[in-house]
Amino acid sequence: MPTREVYWNIHHVWAMYALLVPTLLIFGYGIYRRYRLWRRGRPYPLRWGEVFLRTKVVVLEVLAHRRMLREAYSGFSHFVLFAGFLILFVGTLVVMIHEDFKVRIMQGAFYLYFQSLALDVFGALATLGVVMLAAKRYLVRPARLHANVPERAGAMRQRPWEDAGLLALIFIILVTGFLVEGLRIAATDDPWGRWSPVGWFLAQLFEAQWDVKTMRSVHRFLWWFHLGLTFGLIAWLPYTKLLHIFTAAANVFLRPLEPAGARLKPLDVKASEVLGVARIGDFAWKDLLDLDACTECGRCQQECPATTTGKPLSPKTLILDLREALSASEKESIPLIGRFVREETLWSCTTCMACMQACPVFIEHVPKIVNLRRYLVMEEARVPELMAEALRSLEDRGHPFRGTTFSRTEWYRDLAVPHIREVDSVDFLLWVGCASALNERNQRVARAFVRVLREAGLRFAILGVEERCTGDPARRIGNEYLFEQLVRENIQRL
Ligand code: SF4
Ligand code: SF4
Repeated sequence: MPTREVYWNIHHVWAMYALLVPTLLIFGYGIYRRYRLWRRGRPYPLRWGEVFLRTKVVVLEVLAHRRMLREAYSGFSHFVLFAGFLILFVGTLVVMIHEDFKVRIMQGAFYLYFQSLALDVFGALATLGVVMLAAKRYLVRPARLHANVPERAGAMRQRPWEDAGLLALIFIILVTGFLVEGLRIAATDDPWGRWSPVGWFLAQLFEAQWDVKTMRSVHRFLWWFHLGLTFGLIAWLPYTKLLHIFTAAANVFLRPLEPAGARLKPLDVKASEVLGVARIGDFAWKDLLDLDACTECGRCQQECPATTTGKPLSPKTLILDLREALSASEKESIPLIGRFVREETLWSCTTCMACMQACPVFIEHVPKIVNLRRYLVMEEARVPELMAEALRSLEDRGHPFRGTTFSRTEWYRDLAVPHIREVDSVDFLLWVGCASALNERNQRVARAFVRVLREAGLRFAILGVEERCTGDPARRIGNEYLFEQLVRENIQRL
C-alpha cells in the first residue's frame, strides 16, 4: 500500500519534541503578552447572536480572501502563500496523527492524492507567492508599502529588516522542505515519488550527482536545519507582523455589523472619566485588537484622499503609530496626542471612511480618529479655527456654514412645497439638510428632487425654517455635546 516511513534517516527524534517545548512556550508567551495589552482597553459591546453571519464573513474574507483579491497581483500572491501554509499545516497534523497517535491514515489513495500531490502543489504555490510578494516589495516598490508622512522622532512604525527576514525565512523553509523530500525520494528510490512532482524533479538532479551515502548525510543535515528554521519561525511569529495570521481572523470575526454610519458609538458623557481618548487604555479592547491585526498592506493609505492630496495623514501610519503606543504601554501609559499622533494628522481626516472600505481585515480607523478628536475638543478645547467657526455657526444659526447669504426657505420659494403643519398627512417628511438648503449649487439638486417626488405621486412636506442641522458635522469634529443637543432639538420638533 502506498505510504512512506515518516522519520526515515532521522535519529534522536526525541530531540525534536524537546525543541518543540521551548518553541511553544516562547510562542504562547508572545500571544499572552499581546492579549494582556488588549485587555487594557475599555469594554466593547458584542452581539454574540450573529455567530453564523460572522463565521460566513470569516470564510469569505479570510479563507477566500474576498477583499484582498480586489487587487489581483497582491491578492493572488497572498492567497497562495496562505493556502499553501494552511495545507502544509494540515499535512503536518496528518503526520502527527499517523506517527504519534498511531492512527494509520497516511497511506493508500489519501497518501498519494493529499499527502504527496496536494502538499507538493500547494508548497510550490506558496513558494511562488513568497517570490511574488518579494518582487512587489523590493522591485516594484509601490508607495502604499511605505510611509508617506514625515517621520516622527523615534518612530518604530515599520521594520524593513523584519519584512525581509520573514520573507527570506519562509522561502528557505519551503525550499529546504522540497530538498529534503527530493533527497529522500532519490535515496530510497521511492516507488511513489512521482506523486510529489517537485520532490521527484529534484530527486532526478540528486541521483545524477551524488551516491546514496552522500544523499543520506545531506538529507539528515537539511532535515534538522529545516526543523530548526520552522520552530524558529513559530517562536518568532507573535513578535512580528505575522501575528496578523491570528489577529486578522479574530478581527474579521468580531467586526461591527452595523452600517458604516452607526459604527461610531455614542459617548456616555456622564459616565466617562475621560471624554474621548487620551491614552491607549481609553480605547475599547476591540480597538486595540485592531492595531495588532494590521498587515501593513497600505490599501487604506492608497485610498485616502488626505494622503493623496499631501495632507499629514496616512491611515496606515496612524494605525502603526497607535500600535507602537500599545507596545509602549507595557511599561507606562503615555498621552497619545503629541507623542504618538500629531494634532494636524487628526484634523486632516475628512471621515470619508474610504480607508475602512479598503482594509482587508476590517480595521476601524474613523472611530479612533473621532475619539481622539473628542478628547481634543471636549477636554482640551483645542480645535482648528475653521472647525471652531463651523461649531459656533452650528450653535448660533443651526447650520455649519458661516457667511452663507441664503436662508432655509429660498430654495423652494417658487415650488410651493408644503410645510409639515400645513398638511393633514404625508407619506414622507423631506429632510432637506443644510448642504442642500444653503449651498447655491446643491439647491438645484433639492429642487430636482422635489420634481422627482411629485412625478412619483408621493405626498411629502418639509420643516422649512424649523429644520436644524442633524448634528453630523459636530459629531465628526468631535463635539459630542453639541451633536446631542442638536439631535434633542430635532427630536422635540418632530
Ligand atoms: S476617513 Fe480619513 S483616514 Fe480614512 S480615507 Fe477618509 S480621510 Fe483618509
Ligand atoms: S489598516 Fe488595513 S488597509 Fe491599512 S495597512 Fe493595515 S491592514 Fe492594510
